[in-house]
Amino acid sequence: MVRLRLLRSIRAQLVLWSLCVNALLLIGLGVAVLFIFERLQANQTDTALQLGASQLVAVIDSNQDHLTIPDEDAALLAGRGLFAWVVNPQGKLDATVGRAGRLKLPSVASSTLAFQTIEVTDERLRLYAEPLDATGGALIIGMSLDESERASRTIFVVLAFAIPSALLLSSVGGFFLANRALRPIAAITAQAKRISRENLSERLAFSTSKDEVGALATTFDEMLDRLQATFESERRFISDASHELRTPLGILKAQIGLALSRPRTAETLSQMLRAMENDVDRMTRLVETMLRLTRAEATPLRFQSVDLGDLLAGLVTQMQPLAAERHIILSLTARSGARISGDPDQLVQLFLNLLDNAVKYTPDAGKVAVRLQQNQQEWRIDIQDSGVGIAPEPLSHLFDRFYRVDTSRTRETGGFGLGLPIAQAIARQHGGHISVQSQVGTGSTFSVFLPIINRFSIASSVSFQSKESL
Ligand code: ADP
Repeated sequence: MVRLRLLRSIRAQLVLWSLCVNALLLIGLGVAVLFIFERLQANQTDTALQLGASQLVAVIDSNQDHLTIPDEDAALLAGRGLFAWVVNPQGKLDATVGRAGRLKLPSVASSTLAFQTIEVTDERLRLYAEPLDATGGALIIGMSLDESERASRTIFVVLAFAIPSALLLSSVGGFFLANRALRPIAAITAQAKRISRENLSERLAFSTSKDEVGALATTFDEMLDRLQATFESERRFISDASHELRTPLGILKAQIGLALSRPRTAETLSQMLRAMENDVDRMTRLVETMLRLTRAEATPLRFQSVDLGDLLAGLVTQMQPLAAERHIILSLTARSGARISGDPDQLVQLFLNLLDNAVKYTPDAGKVAVRLQQNQQEWRIDIQDSGVGIAPEPLSHLFDRFYRVDTSRTRETGGFGLGLPIAQAIARQHGGHISVQSQVGTGSTFSVFLPIINRFSIASSVSFQSKESL
């Protein structure tokens, strides 16, 4: 089991792979070297035989049908390790050179040029036969292959020791190199194991190394940054939500305690219950809004083609009675055919939150204008109001969950500080975002940017003026 795990480790696999590749390469190289060496040796032997033969042919004499070789030429050839038989036209052996005298005349086809390798008592001989055109008869010249075979064997033995030694050395080297390269990974693993939910602020901080391992550690640290931010935001959300629920629950508990403290008439009890009902309603709304936020952040969208112009026109119509009640001029400038791929329910939620705020935070007889326009590769929807406006400092927290600019004022309007985070989450789910510009006393403009997925030809221009409907 342990051995198996060891084999599965990157270090062992690196060493094994390099060992296999090196072994294949070295063995291939060894075989090639041996093969080429033997070929060269064989060529050299054959050339030496041919050269010796032509030298012999030049000096062979014919004396009354008896072929002879001058002694000094025979000695010269024998000194080069060559031996030869000279056969007369009748097929009888006339002369020999070197050790040929001690060897049996081989049966080589001497009428044609021919090479042949034969074995004589544990020794291999290379022979070359050449017909003697001038005198008739033939010449067979030979050479022992012992020396070249010994040289081949020596090379084989050297390779047989050198290749395993080289493999062993390269494996040891590879093992140390792999160890060195992987040591930081082991350190990262150990450190990463220590990081848990409780000490999520710890980092690997391996920034000294600029190699792949350093890049891995940096990426891991960045992932921890994001995880920590998410954890902290979740923790804040839970604590804010608990805080938000605790107040009405406390009031409810006090009201129940008061109601039960002494006997009361049915009318007083029903009055008290109505007050309690308001708090329960508020808590129900809070829980529903929180659910909407989770849904906006986590539920996958059901994408379909949505006409933003039509969607905004429907919403503005829906908001008209509320605006009219407070003499607010609500207008829409939009082109129909502004299509995006999106989730219509979520998009309605997004624009409803912004429109609701615009109307809510605009004093009576103010103005709220909704404009849809194309901005390069995205649709831009501005919701501009002539309302109270927002100071620069709160502006930067506007999209934080449970953030309200003026808590007492927003309590009156029933807000929980979740409308804008929900809208932003929906915009992000659609690949877009919301930005805001505002000036205290002048008004605010919330701009929604949504990427254009599909743009149809602009058929008509719809300008919806709420004044006309008022
Ligand atoms: P709420 O439900 O409390 O309105 P939001 O997340 O929608 O929560 O808004 C957060 C805060 O931003 C609000 O408390 C409000 O003070 C401020 N705000 C939002 N929209 C506007 C606006 N159009 N004009 C002025 N203030 C705004």
